[in-house]
Amino acid sequence: MNIAENRQIAEIHHYIGGTVRQGASARFADVFNPATGDVAARVALGTAQDVSDAVAAAKAAFPAWADTPPLRRARILFKFKELLDKHHDDLAALITREHGKVFSDAKGEVTRGIEVVEFACGIPNLLKTDFTDNVGGGIDNWNLRQPLGVVAGITPFNFPVMVPMWMFPVALACGNTFVLKPSERDPSPSLLIADLLKQAGLPDGVFNVVQGDKAAVDALLAHPDVQALSFVGSTPIAEYIYTEGTKHGKRVQALGGAKNHLVVMPDADLDQAVDALVGAAYGSAGERCMAISVAVAVGDVADKLVPRLADRAATLKIRNGMEADAEMGPLVTGAHKAKVEGYIEKGVQEGATLVTDGRGHKVDGHEKGFYVGGTLFDHVTPDMTIYKEEIFGPVLSVVRVHDFAEAVALINAHEYGNGVSCYTSDGGIARAFARQIQVGMVGINVPIPVPMAWHSFGGWKRSLFGDHHAYGEEGVRFYTRYKSVMQRWPDSIAKGAEFTMPVAK
Ligand code: NAD
Repeated sequence: MNIAENRQIAEIHHYIGGTVRQGASARFADVFNPATGDVAARVALGTAQDVSDAVAAAKAAFPAWADTPPLRRARILFKFKELLDKHHDDLAALITREHGKVFSDAKGEVTRGIEVVEFACGIPNLLKTDFTDNVGGGIDNWNLRQPLGVVAGITPFNFPVMVPMWMFPVALACGNTFVLKPSERDPSPSLLIADLLKQAGLPDGVFNVVQGDKAAVDALLAHPDVQALSFVGSTPIAEYIYTEGTKHGKRVQALGGAKNHLVVMPDADLDQAVDALVGAAYGSAGERCMAISVAVAVGDVADKLVPRLADRAATLKIRNGMEADAEMGPLVTGAHKAKVEGYIEKGVQEGATLVTDGRGHKVDGHEKGFYVGGTLFDHVTPDMTIYKEEIFGPVLSVVRVHDFAEAVALINAHEYGNGVSCYTSDGGIARAFARQIQVGMVGINVPIPVPMAWHSFGGWKRSLFGDHHAYGEEGVRFYTRYKSVMQRWPDSIAKGAEFTMPVAK
């Protein structure tokens, strides 16, 4: 779309050094309102120059911010948290407008982000380290956790508030300065966040936003002053970020895609299991990295489960996410809707039983919106594309297995290992499941086990590249460098040079 023809459409720009800046790029991307299918805004796609300006602003702000006592950094985060509470609905409305998820779910996303800010407010305590008095010869030994410098976050479309808030509250609390590259599909919340941080008293340059796509990401990967990169997105890009970032000598944590299973044992409470599957498969139209996309039905449970799931999938309240009773909104773009519908077609071609078909779903008054209805497949097998690949839409596949061991083997053989769940009333099965499963986040009778802010979030296998999970203590470790200090004072120094390895005496 040409800017001159569409002057009424809002433009979304960068935030560098404490102000919104137009930037150097002539490239823009359309941002849609997925509920109506209309173009809601246009976002600038940053250049290497824009990235360089943002990194320079962050680098200039780093020495003073790193030197600010953690308690004072925490006070700014406390103030930020108050402002987030005040603007909770504003942030949620921006999410719904550009992402499409229902407003109540968007509010939940903001809450999960705020929890990380609350965790980061404890930074004086979190940066407290170990001290050993008198290791020998009047020497004391302790360690420090110091900030890295300029760090960057590259985030996906599906949580435009929560995922950036997995990163920057902890990074800033630790004394780093930050450059955020949000998803170009729902960029507006990033600018409201920047404004709230400024209102909270964050010095200019400590938090910056460069809007954009691959060009901005590649500039961050190559920039010598970016010390660390946190990425959340799809697995191919996560792997690329990890490979390129580490090649450039940076610390990288790159969280990727998922195919999350929920095992229903024959002894499970079926009402609970059905509720769990419907909410976890169709909530946010399946556009969650912790969405359940595979129900593993053990023994004879599938014959009872499938008709109940089919009823629920067919009667979901699919609406514009701003409508009060909406249970599920649209997908993020028309292109993504076409991709999801392509997977449904592939499932049919490869021989799965299509029980409920969400293709062609229309919402009255929003005929151009990007809606796909709740879709259910039965008799899905591990060789099928719809089982192997992440669909990221409201498509639930039922795989039938004979017993618990087969369920565990199935899940452990999958290339992804983000989240998993097991519904059972047997404590022994629950314990064995949690211990044997090769997945990073495990729920027992909990469908979406996203860890709380003071634990840490991360998958295994091709769902995470790097050594550290996100936020919690893992986040503090990722955003700080460990330093060991040994000290003694002249009146305790032994006379003469020592030529042997010092050992405690
Ligand atoms: P995506 O990988 O397309 O994009 C993520 C980010 O990478 C965006 O900022 C995008 O601009 C950038 N990007 C896209 N293509 C790029 C390229 N070729 N080179 C460099 N940068 C590029 O992901 P998405 O569609 O925005 O988000 C959905 C994906 O994110 C799903 O796979 C989902 O499972 C995953 N996700 C994972 C987690 C997790 O914690 N593991 C959480 C949320 C989302």
